[in-house]
Amino acid sequence: MTDAKAPATDLASLEFEAEAAARARADYGADALIQCDRLVRVYAADGVEVQALQGLDLLIRPGELTAIVGASGSGKSTLLNILSGLDRPTAGRARVADHDLLTMKGRERLRYRRETVGFIWQQTGRNLLPYLDARENIETPLRLAGVRRVERLRRAEALLQLLGIGYCGDRRPGQLSGGEQQRVAIGVALANRPKVVLADEPTGELDTASADTVFQALRTANAELGVAVLVVTHDEHVSSQVPRTVQIRDGRTSSEVLRTEFGERATAQEYALLDRAGRIQLPAEYVEALDLRDRVRLGLEPEQITVRADREEPTI
Ligand code: ADP
Ligand code: MG
Repeated sequence: MTDAKAPATDLASLEFEAEAAARARADYGADALIQCDRLVRVYAADGVEVQALQGLDLLIRPGELTAIVGASGSGKSTLLNILSGLDRPTAGRARVADHDLLTMKGRERLRYRRETVGFIWQQTGRNLLPYLDARENIETPLRLAGVRRVERLRRAEALLQLLGIGYCGDRRPGQLSGGEQQRVAIGVALANRPKVVLADEPTGELDTASADTVFQALRTANAELGVAVLVVTHDEHVSSQVPRTVQIRDGRTSSEVLRTEFGERATAQEYALLDRAGRIQLPAEYVEALDLRDRVRLGLEPEQITVRADREEPTI
């Protein structure tokens, strides 16, 4: 290659890179089941604006089991309410299994909530109808979807068995423990074979032993049925047992922990998240350790990028 040709080659490769970047933007989350792209939710209450989600990016693949953690008020429930189809985003993009959650209306929204997602609330009493037994509760979404009686009974029974509550079929919620009620609620959420189950602190009101049975039921559903599970939790024990934990901070995803092995040979790697504009959130303890403020110096090295405090240099 001659020197004279070099600039042309550089230009060509720059163009190629620009094209690749444009393709990457278009392809963002192409294979994802859940795709949140700069998702914003602003609540206006008494003239005061609360920005519950401030440009949240999140991709979930089909069949993934993911925990969402974050301080109270960080936007976890807001995110789940949007994904469940109960609430609407203010701006940004949110797609779940080819449904656009911003533009989806009436009939599509209803079908989405019945067939594409299942939802489990923290409050056990909110998930089940008190005057129906466990089997009838699981049958209810099937009845609404027009599934016939024999098939309804067959599916309800199979779910009761799968979730380890075969003995609860004839009991009403008042005759079940909190952990059993939440497992029935998982059965209700799974009845119409959704693509994703969303659970907002489903073990928040339970003792440790019951919480374990409920989380185990979610894991079984994920492993046996291949349904994606997104579970908001405060419980470190839960988040230590899932392959992926996403941390939300101030209405954005800020970091992730990926685990490859569990139990004795557990390995966990924490990642910061780079958004598509190239922004990254530094952990508070790193910022404090170097007393970083306002401006920092970046350096590009062969394998890494360094971040340094911008201290004033002596002038002489
Ligand atoms: P988390 O579930 O992580 O505790 P939320 O999503 O419930 O957080 O809340 C995020 C922020 O949005 C909080 O500041 C909360 O007070 C506010 N918020 C949530 N729901 C509403 C609402 N319906 N009206 C006004 N503000 C709300
Ligand atoms: Mg919440």
